[in-house]
Amino acid sequence: MTAKDIKRVAVIGSGTMGNGIAQVFAKTGYDVDLIDIEQEFLDRALATINSSLERLIKKERITEDDRKITMARIHPSTDLNVAKDAQLIVEAITENLQAKLDIFTQLDTICSDDIIFASNTSSLPITKLAAATKRPTQVIGMHFMNPVPVSKLIELIRGIATSDETYDVIEELSRELGKTPVRVNDFPGFVANRILMPMINEAVYAHMEGVASIEAIDEVMKLGMAHPMGPLRLADFIGLDVCLSILEVLHDGLGDPKYHPCPLLRKLVEAGYLGEKTGRGFYVYDS
Ligand code: NAD
Repeated sequence: MTAKDIKRVAVIGSGTMGNGIAQVFAKTGYDVDLIDIEQEFLDRALATINSSLERLIKKERITEDDRKITMARIHPSTDLNVAKDAQLIVEAITENLQAKLDIFTQLDTICSDDIIFASNTSSLPITKLAAATKRPTQVIGMHFMNPVPVSKLIELIRGIATSDETYDVIEELSRELGKTPVRVNDFPGFVANRILMPMINEAVYAHMEGVASIEAIDEVMKLGMAHPMGPLRLADFIGLDVCLSILEVLHDGLGDPKYHPCPLLRKLVEAGYLGEKTGRGFYVYDS
């Protein structure tokens, strides 16, 4: 298979990342099956994509016709079986190993043998996801960054069995999407989160220990380190549940106590304060 053979992509999971991934593929010209477990999640995803495209119209980056064509290329569904018509699967469901293993096992029976499976996991082992299928050479990590339509980077993670052919196809495809792929090997947290999450965790500890307020911590990192967003604001943006899951993967996978998730982060997740997506995390959001 070459990148040119890919015309239709199934994106599984239509949350924060899935809707952004669907938008980018559709805007580039691919047909996209966007799959989730509830119709209301799909409706919300389509509304989010539409608003994102409308913002691009206001900035005169696309036309109203572009918006219509892009939206028409996205086909929402609650039936995983529609994935059989795609040449590429991009899985973007909740960061939970068992849930992802279940989806990969199901997709393996639904999809023909030549289809490539990519996972947008932030931290889980690609090698393990691949081993749940009969096509481990065709499984790869395609770690998009949030917000997907804006961010240039995709970490491409090679599992132990990922073939050169699969890597080359996905690298070429990533460039077609206007992204810059960076090759990474399969270790917990890859590169981005192995470095980012300990910083976020340390910021949560600093706040919990009373070193400074939430706003002060973010201000120091923005003004002092030229970060576009402070670490606590960024954690809200990513989702505190996602941050906690990634820290647990780092802690379990690397066995070093320095990755131990801060108790305050755990408490906020237990309270359902997951950040921007639930209206409250370290900050409170109006809508
Ligand atoms: P999210 O909670 O916003 O969305 C997950 C979606 O998956 C939900 O809509 C949920 O209903 C759906 N889902 C769950 N189980 C499903 C199933 N069996 N079939 C179909 N859909 C299912 O999560 P997110 O932030 O979009 O994260 C998705 C993935 O992307 C995770 O692996 C995460 O680690 C990764 N990721 C997240 C970020 C980020 O900043 N949030 C960045 C990079 C990668």
